[in-house]
Amino acid sequence: MNQTTLKLYTLRNIEQLPQYQQLEPEAKEALRVVAHILPFRVNNYVAENLIDWNNIPNDPIYQLTFMQKGMLDESHYNLMKTALSDSGQTEGDLAATIFKIRNELNPHPAGQLSSNVPSFEDRPVPGVQHKYKQTALVFPSAGQQCHSYCTFCFRWPQFIGENDLKFATDQQMTYLKYLKEHEELTDVLFTGGDPMVMNSKLLQKYLEPLLSPEYNHIQNIRIGSKSLSYWPQRFVSDKDSQEVLDLFKRVNDSGKQLAFMAHINHINEMQTDIFQEAIHNIRQTGTQIRTQAPLLRHINDDSAMWAKMWKEQVRLGMIPYYFFIERDTGPKNYFSLPLAKTWEIYKNALQEVSGLARTVRGPSMSAHPGKVAIEGMNVINGEKVFVLTLLQARNPDHIKKPFLAKYDENAVWFDELVPAFGESKFFFEK
Ligand SMILES: *Cc1c(COP(=O)(O)O)cnc(C)c1O
Ligand code: SF4
Repeated sequence: MNQTTLKLYTLRNIEQLPQYQQLEPEAKEALRVVAHILPFRVNNYVAENLIDWNNIPNDPIYQLTFMQKGMLDESHYNLMKTALSDSGQTEGDLAATIFKIRNELNPHPAGQLSSNVPSFEDRPVPGVQHKYKQTALVFPSAGQQCHSYCTFCFRWPQFIGENDLKFATDQQMTYLKYLKEHEELTDVLFTGGDPMVMNSKLLQKYLEPLLSPEYNHIQNIRIGSKSLSYWPQRFVSDKDSQEVLDLFKRVNDSGKQLAFMAHINHINEMQTDIFQEAIHNIRQTGTQIRTQAPLLRHINDDSAMWAKMWKEQVRLGMIPYYFFIERDTGPKNYFSLPLAKTWEIYKNALQEVSGLARTVRGPSMSAHPGKVAIEGMNVINGEKVFVLTLLQARNPDHIKKPFLAKYDENAVWFDELVPAFGESKFFFEK
């Protein structure tokens, strides 16, 4: 396989991307304005192989990677556009406008910064979130980027260079001490950004310590990544691809499970030869690949596409795992769908696939109480309700207990729902 070099395009050099020249002036303006607020990055593989440039602006991968005007509300858009075209603005003025708009986009939903960060010897452990008993998230400091950025990304504050908004491990790797002490943990999930942007040496620095006996309680090591879609070369033709695959094999040979959590939004990400080759190579190491993605208006709000995608994932040996609802942050107004519609798309897709693809759980909202799943809708004593459960909760006793919210045809997020039958609180709030 020939080596392809990763070439990254951002606002600074996007004019060098040949296809950029064919965009309409309005599309170029939208990209420039919105990309001052939200992170923009696309690479040569995505631009050349995944985007259908004859289908602009509706192409799902174009919507997934290129900013659109509607991703900011009109007042924010106009504020930013005016600031950029006003030559009287200093760098400082611009930065203040950008900062103000970003802060109005709910950069840290569901208590991210405050309620999930654990401590060790009375100090916060940098780069760790431990919300659910069995699973800790680790954010490697060198993995806080991706091979391209998704326009909807709920982790967008990780990429905009404001350190106080970032999660990342420290030099001393304090997180290891925390993981060692917490024997209730069975799973560690490396996330970001994308841990697969790290070279094999760095990856090894994060994975290998967990293979020693002090970490016997950790059975499953997960890597959350979009590299299969955005840079499958990582597992096929990069300089250190073989080292990466060898490392994966060493983890599995040690008796632990390496689980690769692949983020795949659309079936168009799955159709290149190199994507399928990457899956083959990862599976050869004994690594199981599970898939997850949020539902997004403009990108994948189509149950037939989901059904086709899940079937194709099963055909390629992957296990559909989570169907998420886009979080209430950043450009959520552009992407969100009513919960009622979301449930319908999920259910209709599920009906089209066999049991092997019905492993996918959801539709799930990562909200303050935990992962809230919509189980369905019903009418009880004349009142229309949503039936909900918690798939994950801080308190394991709360999991899988059905509860009811008053039906609301426009609600797009959990905090817009109220308990059914005039009750004042949901059971877990009592
Ligand atoms: C989803 C999630 C996990 C993993 O949960 P599983 O149900 O074990 O897959 C862990 N931590 C957080 C904060 C999550 O949102
Ligand atoms: S790959 Fe994940 S972390 Fe990276 S930009 Fe996309 S959604 Fe965000």
